[in-house]
Amino acid sequence: MRALRVAVVGSGPAGVFCAETLTEDPGFEVDVDVFERLPTPFGLVRYGVAPDHQKIKSIIASLSEVFETPKVRFLGNITVGTDITVDELRSHYDAVVIAYGAPLDRRLGVPGEQLPGVIAARNFVSWYSGHPDASFDPAALTGERAAVIGVGNVALDVARMLVRTPDELRRTDVPEHVVEALDGHPVREVCVIGRRGPEHAKFTHKELLELAGVEGADIVVDPEDLRPTEERRAAVAARPATARLLSTLEKIAARPPAHRSRTVRFLFDRTPVGFLGEASLTGVSLAHTSDPSRVEVLPTELVLPAVGYRSAPLAGVPFDEASGTVPHTDSRVIAGGTAVPGLYVVGWAKRGPSGVIGTNRLCASETAAAVLADAAEREGGTGRGPDAVDDLLRSRGAVVVDWKGWLAIEATEAALGSPNGRGRVKLHDRTGLLTAAGLSV
Ligand SMILES: Cc1cc2nc3c(=O)[nH]c(=O)nc-3n(C[C@H](O)[C@H](O)[C@H](O)COP(=O)(O)OP(=O)(O)OC[C@H]3O[C@@H](n4cnc5c(N)ncnc54)[C@H](O)[C@@H]3O)c2cc1C
Repeated sequence: MRALRVAVVGSGPAGVFCAETLTEDPGFEVDVDVFERLPTPFGLVRYGVAPDHQKIKSIIASLSEVFETPKVRFLGNITVGTDITVDELRSHYDAVVIAYGAPLDRRLGVPGEQLPGVIAARNFVSWYSGHPDASFDPAALTGERAAVIGVGNVALDVARMLVRTPDELRRTDVPEHVVEALDGHPVREVCVIGRRGPEHAKFTHKELLELAGVEGADIVVDPEDLRPTEERRAAVAARPATARLLSTLEKIAARPPAHRSRTVRFLFDRTPVGFLGEASLTGVSLAHTSDPSRVEVLPTELVLPAVGYRSAPLAGVPFDEASGTVPHTDSRVIAGGTAVPGLYVVGWAKRGPSGVIGTNRLCASETAAAVLADAAEREGGTGRGPDAVDDLLRSRGAVVVDWKGWLAIEATEAALGSPNGRGRVKLHDRTGLLTAAGLSV
């Protein structure tokens, strides 16, 4: 059987699904090395999916099985582009699959966006998820009111996490310093701001129900925002999912207030047109989308835009600035209209930030099919085994967290959680993670 060695850059679900599909192919003997810049695998499943979505995170069990076979190696704590270049990978492997996701924020392009106090939701998500590179400072949780811009699932995750009670948070894996900061912050009202009417909201019905069920906050929807307009009626008639969403919003709007200590307030049909303040944020100007001359100022010291992600350029990988993705045809990375030999892309780096975890499985099978189809056409391979890459990394003083190292991190996190009956509590700094992996730092 023909042997094939593949490098995957990124260990999020897309990269891992791709490794799985490749190694299951009966026509090739495929070995895959998965490079990951963090000491921990699984990308946004660990550092994006909300901590109170433990059921969704249980996909980690099946992703882990992929690394339990000798055919797939985890090379954690290795940043492609710094510890090893894409060109070097291409010379060591028969194929390289880019799976590094979409780690940058989309910008709103609104004046004042650079003010401290306007902080991309991604930073807040990374912080509460215990990401070792999180830059969010919990001192930013200040003032009576915070605003979240956007009405997708991430916006609702962020609003929910801002109002969760400490009891609810301790049912998750968030680090204790996060529980304390989220318990103690002064924000009483979280406004979730949608550019258009509720019929255009991107969040799912499930996420809305979850928000409606939080213990620590009243959820407020203005019945005026749900008034049946022609557009709204047409949207409801066209999509059963929209009808369900609006019906639940109506029920929430009709609920009498429970006078809880916090409130989440939906503001639809409003778009930010300016962030106010000199040295720091004092408010956001919101224009009504249906009547832009109607502008109101929402006083707030913290705005968390949750308006999407974009991928990042990396030396040796073509990048399309306009779409914020790696350009491809049928998963083959293209430069100047032609496929770059041996370079492929999968997941959010390929499609942009859309779809749920499962969407990446189909995407990965398309990418794996392209890798295998090209390999079937090609003669020979690089002839280099795993030792050459290991030697190169060692010569650079790179510290690799292998699968055993990750299992040791998991065991430490489980031990941290067990005295308090928590399944696990995350380690959140790189030194702690590397030490738990048994590496000297
Ligand atoms: C806040 C948030 C919440 C979400 N919640 C849900 C949910 O509840 N349910 C659901 O189904 N989906 C959810 N999603 C979507 C889901 O997480 C994505 O579909 C999925 O993670 C995308 O997979 P990916 O592998 O392309 O990217 P990622 O998961 O981002 O993985 C990319 C990996 O590449 C690594 N990497 C980056 N650069 C390099 C480099 N230079 N060298 C080596 N490694 C590198 C990163 O560290 C990361 O581990 C959520 C997304 C976000 C942002």
